[in-house]
Amino acid sequence: MVVGEIAEAVDLLVVGGGPAGYAAALRGAQRGRDVLVIDRDGEDGVGGVCLRAGCIPSKALIEMADVAERAAGYASAGLSVGECSVDLGAFQAHKARIVGELTGGVRSLLAAAGVRVLAGDLRFTRPDQAVVRTPAGRAAFVEFRDVVIATGSRPAVLPHLVPDGVRVLDSTGALDLPELPATVAVVGAGYIGVELGTALAKLGSSVTLVEMAERILPEIDVALTRPVARRLDELGVTVLTAARAGEHRGTILHVRRGDRDVEVKADVVIVAVGRRPNTDELGLDRLGVTPGDDGLLHVAPDRTLRPHVAAVGDVTPGPALAHKGYAEAPVAVDALCGDRVTFQPAAIPAVVFADPEIATVGLSAAAARAEGLDPVVTTIPMAGNGRALTLRAPRGTVQLVSETGTGLVLGLHVVGPHASELVAEGTVAIEMGATVEDLADTVHVHPTVGEQVQEAARAAAGRGLHSASPARRPHHHLNKE
Ligand SMILES: Cc1cc2nc3c(=O)[nH]c(=O)nc-3n(C[C@H](O)[C@H](O)[C@H](O)COP(=O)(O)OP(=O)(O)OC[C@H]3O[C@@H](n4cnc5c(N)ncnc54)[C@H](O)[C@@H]3O)c2cc1C
Repeated sequence: MVVGEIAEAVDLLVVGGGPAGYAAALRGAQRGRDVLVIDRDGEDGVGGVCLRAGCIPSKALIEMADVAERAAGYASAGLSVGECSVDLGAFQAHKARIVGELTGGVRSLLAAAGVRVLAGDLRFTRPDQAVVRTPAGRAAFVEFRDVVIATGSRPAVLPHLVPDGVRVLDSTGALDLPELPATVAVVGAGYIGVELGTALAKLGSSVTLVEMAERILPEIDVALTRPVARRLDELGVTVLTAARAGEHRGTILHVRRGDRDVEVKADVVIVAVGRRPNTDELGLDRLGVTPGDDGLLHVAPDRTLRPHVAAVGDVTPGPALAHKGYAEAPVAVDALCGDRVTFQPAAIPAVVFADPEIATVGLSAAAARAEGLDPVVTTIPMAGNGRALTLRAPRGTVQLVSETGTGLVLGLHVVGPHASELVAEGTVAIEMGATVEDLADTVHVHPTVGEQVQEAARAAAGRGLHSASPARRPHHHLNKE
């Protein structure tokens, strides 16, 4: 890249080195394209929010909190591990090692594929040109044939609770805590707020969740969130729903609930009220692209916005999840390479790493009805499952939604241990067009919590082994003889 007015020409430009961006870059290299990635943080930015400040760091914290809390609970099973102490400083070093290993791995993959990564803040200047402001403050111009926009998202802020990195934090700050605060208020009980609040409560903080909606995890079916609400209660987390967070003064967060003011003790406030796509400072007008009112780039089914321009990941509509970005990236690049492709997964799973975990894929019964389908809902409790009992976590349910008549699997909704792994079974079933018969006849390992999925399928097929079958028995045209 040349500094000044003379632009370097690149074949495929990828803006953003997060999951969506690096996957696009690797696909581009596989397709024989000469690829340049620009990330604000350069080589350090590889992995994006997910690897550096999202999925991976949050799961490292959740795992530590789970171990601490579960170990204490094993006393009645004969295991005593003594007093639990938490050193978040040491945890930060542990987390940095995991993140370093993963981001280093991605950097090696990119290097091996011949992808260059440069640091800088990119803005489009023409439909085929951008300026990159380098960390040294210089402006470098780059001309491109094709571009993939993968600039991701950032935490939404509340004007009266702007993160200061000490007393008011966003999710990134919350994952970087140097020590455990005695009292924490988490504003927003979506998945990020619930995950962080649960972990901090297990580590010993006194946590209050403040949520504007009538209940926690408002985007998830209430039947699935009930076990999580019960567990939060057991963990001593105060949950204030239908509540609006006001200002944080001293160590008090002022909360308005109905016509009452509530004072919440909070050394630290964590604001987790959603995320905003990074599309406002890219100079997209120069590219001939206009984001929607929601700031998102409303892409065509092949992820392009116009010829030579595609977008993937959190900047596009749909669930703002890393695996969606990974899945979209190759489609976008193939489209830019001239292939006729479309991003059309049958279902995208979503997980809340709460306690218990909630994982959901495909249609709920209500969504199936709204699509004019006639669903059968089969619910099997975790309670009788041998493996769940050995894990000391026999709570939750497996809910299988299938279609009356065909027996096609429409949705799988799991609350319980390892739900995040179990949901893959439903995703494959939906993507393959499997029926409840197929799932019921697939041999599952014993003892595993996955056996409850098989049991739900058996019950849906009218032949529950350890459970009653649903009242309304479906007739399966696709039954195997
Ligand atoms: C606390 C937390 C927990 C999460 N947990 C999960 C989880 O368990 N599972 C899951 O699937 N998802 C999770 N997510 C969401 C996940 O992190 C995102 O969906 C994912 O990172 C989006 O990937 P992306 O590539 O679109 O963008 P990002 O990961 O946001 O990457 C975008 C990159 O673009 C760069 N960039 C932005 N603007 C510019 C510019 N103008 N010029 C140059 N570079 C730029 C940024 O530096 C960044 O590196 C979590 C998020 C958070 C915050």
